[in-house]
Amino acid sequence: MKRFHPWVFSGAIGRVEGTAHNGDVAEVYTQEGVYLGTGHAAEGSIAVRIFSFTGFDDSQNFWNIKIEAALQLRIKLGLIDNPSTNIYRLVHAEGDGLPGLVVDIYNTTAVIQTHSVGMHLHRNKIAIAIKEVLKDRVTAIYDKSAEKIDKKNEIVGTDGYLLGAKNDGVSLENNCRFNIDWETGQKTGFFIDQREHRALLGHYAKGKKVLNTFCYSGGFSIYALKEGATLAHSLDSSQSALDLTDRNVVLNGFDEKVHKSIKADAVEFIKNIETDYDIIVLDPPAFAKHLSARHKAVQGYLRINEAALRQIKSGGLLFTFSCSQVVDKQLFNSTIAAAAINAGRTVRILHQLHQPPDHPISIFHPEGEYLKGLVLEVL
Ligand code: SAH
Repeated sequence: MKRFHPWVFSGAIGRVEGTAHNGDVAEVYTQEGVYLGTGHAAEGSIAVRIFSFTGFDDSQNFWNIKIEAALQLRIKLGLIDNPSTNIYRLVHAEGDGLPGLVVDIYNTTAVIQTHSVGMHLHRNKIAIAIKEVLKDRVTAIYDKSAEKIDKKNEIVGTDGYLLGAKNDGVSLENNCRFNIDWETGQKTGFFIDQREHRALLGHYAKGKKVLNTFCYSGGFSIYALKEGATLAHSLDSSQSALDLTDRNVVLNGFDEKVHKSIKADAVEFIKNIETDYDIIVLDPPAFAKHLSARHKAVQGYLRINEAALRQIKSGGLLFTFSCSQVVDKQLFNSTIAAAAINAGRTVRILHQLHQPPDHPISIFHPEGEYLKGLVLEVL
């Protein structure tokens, strides 16, 4: 904690004065009684998640200052009042000194997702802070915490609007238009963390045939088509994801002449590819959510990358990603190297990719690093 790591593990706690129930605000002191920080108590191995190393009074002003600091970074990043992009992450949990809280902005709607009971109990003050700090930039605030809170806690979250009401959800990312469905979509409605990588794919897409697997709402395909790809095929195992993709294709003025949605299992499809794609995107969901699943996850990444590396045409590009926090950059790279050896292809790394700066990582909390990717040239 002296180095601003925000987690206190249960085994590190000598004694508890008063109560530290799930969701309570807890102050943490050294054995000698020196104040270290204030956070939310929780059940499980992380007993306290620190959100202040300097003191906490639970005033509205405290939360306003936190949200203002988050806004200042996004101003620095050029994401505020930007005419071509109004989709961004305003608060990225530990990366913004607010463990357990994610706030994503879709045009004028803020979507809050709390991952701890303590943050959930503060959601109303957080919502007021968002409105007071972002002012007219926000007209609706939706709380999408139920699935995260209900899983293992005694309190029940109910999704709903803390401000304003439902709207059409149409938002902009690098001048691509997306229908965002925060009420029923995955996560807060969109995978904002791939913004820069979608733009990078656009850079290579002109005149190319693109296969976008694990497409969700079709982001990579829209960028590819916008930059002149001759065709984009979007694949997902979920029909609702493909429905979102189809809506986004239409929203951007494309049709079935250049785009096709395919409902299939990615690995099975790739093994039997019939089109000579120039670019393949592999963006699977986190194969490992916990350390115990890491080995199995690595096998999953190996299998799917090997299949794609076997199939992609000579000179093609593979955009491959992992968002499993427990599979670090080194392990991911060596897994892809193993896949290339198995596939017997000559592969060069053109880009090493990483989560974007509106998903910042506290240097004292390396656990905050989760998204990594490689752009590979395959001969
Ligand atoms: N690339 C997307 C985000 C991917 S999220 C974007 O830029 O927005 C992961 C997606 O993988 C989900 O939509 C999920 O439905 C899909 N998925 C999970 N398992 C799959 C499988 N075996 N085959 C194909 N798609 C799968």
